Amino acid sequence: MNDESQAAARRNQALATVRGLGPRLGHLIGGVAVEGAGAAHDVLEPATGEVIGQVHDATAAELDAAVAAAKQAFPAWAAMPGDARKAMLHKVADLIVARAGEIATVECLDAGQCWRFMSKAAVRGAENFRFFADQAPAARDGQALPTTDHLNFTTRQPIGPVGVITPWNTPFMLSTWKIAPALAAGCTVVHKPAEWSPYSARLLADIAHEAGLPAGVLNSVNGLGETTGKRLTEHPDIKAIAFVGDTSTGSAIMRQGSETLKRVHFELGGKNPVIVFDDADLDRALDAAIFMIYSLNGQRCTSSSRLLVQRSIYDLFVAQAAARVAKLRVGDPFDPATEVGPLIHPRHRDKVQSYMAIATDEGARIAAGGTAIDGPGHFFRPTLFADARRGMRIAQEEIFGPVLTVIPFDDEADAIRIANDVRYGLAAYLWTGNLDRALRVADALEAGMVWVNSENVRHLPTPFGGVKSSGIGRDGGDWSFDFYMETKNVALARGSHKISRMGV
Ligand code: NAD
Repeated sequence: MNDESQAAARRNQALATVRGLGPRLGHLIGGVAVEGAGAAHDVLEPATGEVIGQVHDATAAELDAAVAAAKQAFPAWAAMPGDARKAMLHKVADLIVARAGEIATVECLDAGQCWRFMSKAAVRGAENFRFFADQAPAARDGQALPTTDHLNFTTRQPIGPVGVITPWNTPFMLSTWKIAPALAAGCTVVHKPAEWSPYSARLLADIAHEAGLPAGVLNSVNGLGETTGKRLTEHPDIKAIAFVGDTSTGSAIMRQGSETLKRVHFELGGKNPVIVFDDADLDRALDAAIFMIYSLNGQRCTSSSRLLVQRSIYDLFVAQAAARVAKLRVGDPFDPATEVGPLIHPRHRDKVQSYMAIATDEGARIAAGGTAIDGPGHFFRPTLFADARRGMRIAQEEIFGPVLTVIPFDDEADAIRIANDVRYGLAAYLWTGNLDRALRVADALEAGMVWVNSENVRHLPTPFGGVKSSGIGRDGGDWSFDFYMETKNVALARGSHKISRMGV
């Protein structure tokens, strides 16, 4: 089969999977598929603009039922020995691997993400399950902190049923990233995926049950943020909310959860700098900068959306970048040759489009792209804004599309000033041949994660998360368990047996 017929076969497979879930996607509550009685909304295929199905907004009663199922399942799941949870979560990973191709096609269909990336992302979802499964047996372990009078020791216990709310950009991978550690810690979960890309979350919930997860341990409810999402964050039986999405939604969730004192974990927006000094390996730096902003259709929280280039190499570097951007292959997400697919929704494409006029009004230059692509689907040409300055909106706001803003800088101090002059602080990338400078700049950057002479390469034991308006808390390694578990200190008085004898 050539690329084109392979792409058509993959799309047919995705449509068959989605249709197999019914004309209107409901919820999975307490291990039972619920049709859904709430309003139904269209789900669009970003590449064609066609309606591929509908998804129900959960009613208040359905959301309550999902939380009740998670609450009922919690004591037994929390009490299950870590080894048993580990085995079950490995089984989930096995089943994800077995269906990785199918999951990837669904991501291409309803999120518009490219096959070349999604075929790996589904497998990474399985790796997330394996990594946290392996940590489950020791998740409760604590520290011994003895004094002369007391033997203090700490233990950790799962916090309770938790809510997980995820966005549409890489829905499956991000869901596993939150749900796997929650389950490994012993929490039960109510998951609300994004309304624009709801299908792969349901596949995950079905897989989890097929793997033997007891009913109610993982529940999947669909719906809009302002209705279902809001109710989940306000529910008194939900003890914590793990949220990935927009910064303003994070603020709303904090307000909504304040009455019930919700613990929150936020992975939010970014306007991540990639700083290129004139002593860097410029070819590698260019490759990485292009990859980090244009892959995943520019809809990536850790994208290198601000390119800061030292003035001495600025003209050459920008000319090379513009030539590369103009050559990116935009098209059918199912085609393995496609590098950039469509934007998720017409509303989002309009938002990205609006920045073109903002850029030119502010005095920047559009060095590549700058227009939507006519025809079906929500395609937008990969775009390069050159000659930007740090105060411009295109240098400050998260556009979340295939749009790169280039800003020149003079020296190290100038680079740091520009890099830090945004409300966000998720990731930063830094390219230099000078190790001392790399360490100095990495230390000065206001970001939760800094990559030096590298694109974003995720290593699961390391912490992932942002500072400033990019988030609260860290994922990965043991950091995830700190969020999903409560730490308890037990202080045992030395010589307490004598006290009890006196009592007798
Ligand atoms: P969004 O905030 O609009 O929606 C995310 C989720 O929140 C959806 O499920 C939505 O239904 C829900 N939601 C919306 N309003 C809500 C409310 N009031 N209460 C509860 N839930 C509500 O974000 P999006 O547009 O889907 O995703 C894009 C954003 O996600 C970007 O800003 C991107 O940077 C961010 N993101 C961050 C990371 C990270 O790791 N930092 C990763 C991926 C995406």
